[in-house]
Amino acid sequence: MSSPHSTLTSQLVFSLKRTRKASLTAIYDLNDIGRPSDKRIGGNAVICGGSIAGLLTARVCADHFSKVIIVDPEAWLVTEEGMRDHHRQQGSDYMASRKRSRVPQYTSMHLYQPFSLMALRKLFPNFDRELEGCGFLDSGDPGLRISGIPVLFPTGIPQTIWMTRPAYETLLRRLVLSTCSNVEFITGSVTSLQPASTSWESVAYVSFRTASDAETLQVPAALVVDCTGPARGGLRWFQDTEVEKRACAPGSLPFSELKVSYDPKMFYTTFEFKILPAMKDKLGYLVDFQSPSNLFACFPNIGKGNKMFNIALRDNDHLQILCGAWDVHQKICTVSDIRDHMSDIVTDRPLPSWIFQLLDILETNDVHASYSHLRVPASAYVRYHRFVNLPSNFIAIGDSVLFLNPINAQGCSKACVEAVSLDALLRKCPSGMSLPSNFGRDFFACQEKRTGRLWESAKKDDYGWQTTSPSKGETLAHGKLSRAVGKWIIELMQNDEASARVMWLVDGWLEPPTELESPVILLKPRPFAFTEMPTKRGRSNSPQSNPRTVYVVLKRSSAYGPRGDEHEVSCESVHTTLAAANKAAKFVFEIDEDEDVAEEDGWTSWEDLDGTRVQTDSEGKVRVIQVFDTQGEDLAWVEKKTIDEGDETEESEDDEEEDDMEERQAKRLKAGGNSSNSVIDLTED
Ligand SMILES: Cc1cc2nc3c(=O)[nH]c(=O)nc-3n(C[C@H](O)[C@H](O)[C@H](O)COP(=O)(O)OP(=O)(O)OC[C@H]3O[C@@H](n4cnc5c(N)ncnc54)[C@H](O)[C@@H]3O)c2cc1C
Repeated sequence: MSSPHSTLTSQLVFSLKRTRKASLTAIYDLNDIGRPSDKRIGGNAVICGGSIAGLLTARVCADHFSKVIIVDPEAWLVTEEGMRDHHRQQGSDYMASRKRSRVPQYTSMHLYQPFSLMALRKLFPNFDRELEGCGFLDSGDPGLRISGIPVLFPTGIPQTIWMTRPAYETLLRRLVLSTCSNVEFITGSVTSLQPASTSWESVAYVSFRTASDAETLQVPAALVVDCTGPARGGLRWFQDTEVEKRACAPGSLPFSELKVSYDPKMFYTTFEFKILPAMKDKLGYLVDFQSPSNLFACFPNIGKGNKMFNIALRDNDHLQILCGAWDVHQKICTVSDIRDHMSDIVTDRPLPSWIFQLLDILETNDVHASYSHLRVPASAYVRYHRFVNLPSNFIAIGDSVLFLNPINAQGCSKACVEAVSLDALLRKCPSGMSLPSNFGRDFFACQEKRTGRLWESAKKDDYGWQTTSPSKGETLAHGKLSRAVGKWIIELMQNDEASARVMWLVDGWLEPPTELESPVILLKPRPFAFTEMPTKRGRSNSPQSNPRTVYVVLKRSSAYGPRGDEHEVSCESVHTTLAAANKAAKFVFEIDEDEDVAEEDGWTSWEDLDGTRVQTDSEGKVRVIQVFDTQGEDLAWVEKKTIDEGDETEESEDDEEEDDMEERQAKRLKAGGNSSNSVIDLTED
């Protein structure tokens, strides 16, 4: 039985954790969202910008204000085309059309985090039904690799949405305008704000130029929300006004210093291949067209390599390939360019051969692709939370506040967290004609805690690339320690399921980032990192003998070479848990369900392990087998090893041989083949 003392302590810890989670995430605010408030605020909520942030904000405000007005310059957004993504059904080349003139990433690959789905289901009770035909829900492994090594994806991570950006944005617009009768969309470009009094305590009117540019009109505003994205309307609207000129109050930044920026110099090219039925048959053995999801993503570890890619099936017949790069100006226009891009990627484990087979098939069959190439603008943060003299009814949501390097796919979910936070704050307001005088300040303080923290973490990662132009007054050394911790967390995610789970939940906006900094994670015993193995030489630094159990994934490749049947046993990866090793072993080969492998050496017959057919033995060892008709038999299996970190580690090949190996591996990769890693002598006990 636990003592009253320990019960009290655990209650206290639980309550502290809950308070922290309530402050750093919007997860508890989801309880109330979507319910019309019974105390309406009189007047208009004017939303400047009708993209992702503007639409979510409008939906939230519709529950609290008498009227919501969205102002956006692009007139086509409220035509049928702006509310239903017809392009792909019609087979038109929408990437080339550059339809969304102010949102250049409209045609870039987009991914969304689980928080968005949770919020959208509450905001639109018919969301799942409306999604049919334009998007999918999935909670499967997105196939993320860092430096070629899989990041574990534990079961039970909540579902997320898989759809293109045009499909996502048009669906949101259709849902907002069809379900909220008090939301109106006006075509126009917001040009200025007018104060209620000369002291600018609040904004009274929003001025906008009409679509024809013929006249400037005004709408009265009880709340003004800047959702203009990287145009950052707010900064311009307050320029040369009393707000900018005001003497700096203690603790406030001068207006001119609100915006900070740095440039990771990212380039993004998204290809979209239309896969016709005949082509599906050809690709069917590589891609499961019945389950659209992310197929494979390969990112470099922080600062290690400057290229990444992602392959995703966006719906039953559209395959997207994203090629991203840090400061690489070369344009990627053909499948051959994609192949070169992927072959250049620095990995600790070769890329699987199916990726290159996929490219070969797309290329030889001349599958139609459209692509968009984008130089991503510099990352920027407008620190409204540090400016004390803003009008009380002005706030900003989405990229107008924080624009990040998109590689972490957070922008749309970040806007969603902010809109949900706004809902919670509005629910606390007394009913009446105006918002309380501390409204804007409270909103920006909450926003800084929940989403603003991404600025520092993304920046510290980006500073790991020597090509990044740092923020004014900083050098790339900034955040060195944090990058070291980041690399450590990545290693954990590749080896430890519990840590990987925390990472996915934090990334999905379901847990606070402080969970990743908890001692439970940071004090985990160091996993035996595969990445270090090839370079481990000589005597370990540790004077102590330190025996540890690891699970090694081994692979035996066989071939009929000039000297007859040749075998090569290579170490694929090393793990601290059997579960992680089993999972990694499954990646080594794809299983042909029809293949019949004889029982031998005590291995039992086929068993189903997490949906993959494998063989197991009496000790729980697992092996994944593929039989080639003409090339003998290739095997991958897991072996338990006890290693002594304090002992002398066997020297692997000498430098020359290792270089040779790398060169051969690179050549094989370039040629589109699979290759094995350098052989590490762990096979002998
Ligand atoms: C290459 C790239 C890839 C990305 N990938 C992902 C991803 O995978 N996942 C993800 O979640 N996020 C991703 N993002 C980020 C995501 O696209 C943005 O976070 C998202 O579009 C932000 O929406 P927003 O409404 O804040 O701004 P925007 O989408 O930029 O929209 C701004 C709106 O304001 C309007 N506007 C501009 N000026 C005015 C004015 N004066 N008056 C009125 N309206 C005005 C514009 O017409 C536009 O409609 C990516 C970004 C880039 C650049």
